[in-house]
Amino acid sequence: MVEVVTTDIVVIGSGLAGLRAAIEAARRGNGELDISVLTKVHAMRSHSVAYAGGTGAVLYPDEGDSYDLHAFDTIKGAAWLADQDAVELFVRLAPQEIYQLDHWGMPWGRRPDGRIAQRRFGGHSFPRACFAADKTGLYAMQTLYDTALKYDGIKFYHEFFVTSLILENNEFRGVTAIDLKTGEFYLFKAKAGILATGGAGRLYPFTTYSHSSTADGMAMAYRAGLPLKDMEFFQFHPTGLVPSGILISEAARGEGGYLINNKGERFMKNYAPERMELAPRDVVSRAEMTEILEGRGFKGPGGLDYVLLDLRHLGEEKIDERLPHIRELAIRFAGVDPVKEPMPVRPVAHYSMGGVHTDIYGATPAKGLWAAGEVACVSLHGANRLGTNSSSDCLVYGMLTGRQAADYAMKSSLREVPMDIVEAEERRIFDKILKGSTGENPYHIRREMQSTMGKHVYIFRDEKGLKEALRKIRELRERFGQGHVADKDLEYNINLIHVLELDAMLEIAQVVVASALNRTESRGAHTRLDYPKRDDENWLKHTLISRGAEGEPLFNYLPVTITKWPPAERKY
Ligand SMILES: Cc1cc2nc3c(=O)[nH]c(=O)nc-3n(C[C@H](O)[C@H](O)[C@H](O)COP(=O)(O)OP(=O)(O)OC[C@H]3O[C@@H](n4cnc5c(N)ncnc54)[C@H](O)[C@@H]3O)c2cc1C
Repeated sequence: MVEVVTTDIVVIGSGLAGLRAAIEAARRGNGELDISVLTKVHAMRSHSVAYAGGTGAVLYPDEGDSYDLHAFDTIKGAAWLADQDAVELFVRLAPQEIYQLDHWGMPWGRRPDGRIAQRRFGGHSFPRACFAADKTGLYAMQTLYDTALKYDGIKFYHEFFVTSLILENNEFRGVTAIDLKTGEFYLFKAKAGILATGGAGRLYPFTTYSHSSTADGMAMAYRAGLPLKDMEFFQFHPTGLVPSGILISEAARGEGGYLINNKGERFMKNYAPERMELAPRDVVSRAEMTEILEGRGFKGPGGLDYVLLDLRHLGEEKIDERLPHIRELAIRFAGVDPVKEPMPVRPVAHYSMGGVHTDIYGATPAKGLWAAGEVACVSLHGANRLGTNSSSDCLVYGMLTGRQAADYAMKSSLREVPMDIVEAEERRIFDKILKGSTGENPYHIRREMQSTMGKHVYIFRDEKGLKEALRKIRELRERFGQGHVADKDLEYNINLIHVLELDAMLEIAQVVVASALNRTESRGAHTRLDYPKRDDENWLKHTLISRGAEGEPLFNYLPVTITKWPPAERKY
């Protein structure tokens, strides 16, 4: 039995991007639109709640910052793979979003003169990160969630797991979903859709992401025939706390923290003499791994060798005022009080630069479907994202896609959904996967997938390792079968959800590995030891990946849009 809900706009995901999109659609619709927000966890458990350090925007041109400077920093950080028209649009809209959140009640940190405070962040040549202590995401999400609740037109479906996007004739018609509480299967028929399902960080074993960041949205789009873009570019943040992988926000270095090796040296002087610890993340992560591989790190548990992040010189008062959460995390998860001791850190999977291909306004190639936030690849972040640009991306593109989806929904009528597609999806989940249950224990497969990614598709890559990873992922997909579910109940069947998530992750892992093997150059976060140079002549282009008939990734390319800033060497 399929429960059918009809709605004007369906927003898939309720992180920063999804919430901002829903609010904008409601404002634009002025009471006329019915907006359904579907989220597999309660909205306030979305990964965005964990973002800590800040949201980047130009607020003070009077003090020397400018849109061009923010755009240039972003493009240089991106190793020239960002589309410059998109970046120019983004930097101009980001400040409005900071003030918009302020008006909705966001408690931004303040300067003594009462204006919004900004701190330094890696790769930015001006302090641009607006923050609320080091719990910015929690406050931003609370502000957006509270605001969303004020609109009658927005209805939340918490703990609804979306399983597929329905496209007909390249036009969006709706989504299918499971209500976790009851196990009932739903069809949401909608005029427009906004995909905002976040990143894919759980592909990796050592990661900063929530357990819910499992690439579902990317896999759904890919399976529905939409192309993914630049999937080889995965960001490794320099300071994952050992052994948990919990993020020590870049705010720690923004406020003046140092990185040191086992000789007590601030080694960044050998890699980025000007920017030091505040060089972009790809540069700092490579430097850390070089120190570790050359024997200047510390032995860590389970092969998690590390360097140290030292905050002691900042003093207890500043740490407690600006970085209280970091202190708490380090004490709880590493048994180290940063007021007294340096913290053990190493590069950690943190952000998917790649995602669902969109134009510079967030529209996917399917009519009526937009993508916003980390699931999308606009591309703003190119080969390496700068810290703080992701939360502003979510806000700006949430706003832009919400507005376009509302305009589109107001002038469209609801189209028929072919029920055979919906019933086939229902049979896939309930008959084949839940009742059928072929394949091996999914938890073993997940662990092997993650360790493969961590071993061969980490900071340094080469052909041999990537080929081995591809072989292994293919083997795991075979062993996965249709998915093995031990729990046969319908209510709160988390086991079934884990299997569906793993199915998505295996699909996307294969895309990431194949794309990394395909790109025979080093650029931004993608470092090939066998192709150590950036190769603009052959590779200044986006990778576009579509799913072939046999489920194999097929590659096409798109040119990078250059407006004002011709490619140049990256020095920091
Ligand atoms: C620890 C950490 C710290 C960070 N710090 C910063 C920072 O300081 N500054 C910055 O700019 N960026 C930071 N980032 C990056 C930034 O926070 C994320 O890129 C951003 O929050 C992603 O938001 P989103 O709205 O795209 O998705 P998310 O917040 O990840 O939300 C995804 C949503 O999709 C839903 N969803 C997923 N799959 C399904 C499905 N199958 N069915 C239904 N719903 C689904 C989830 O329930 C969730 O609501 C940080 C990231 C992490 C992990």
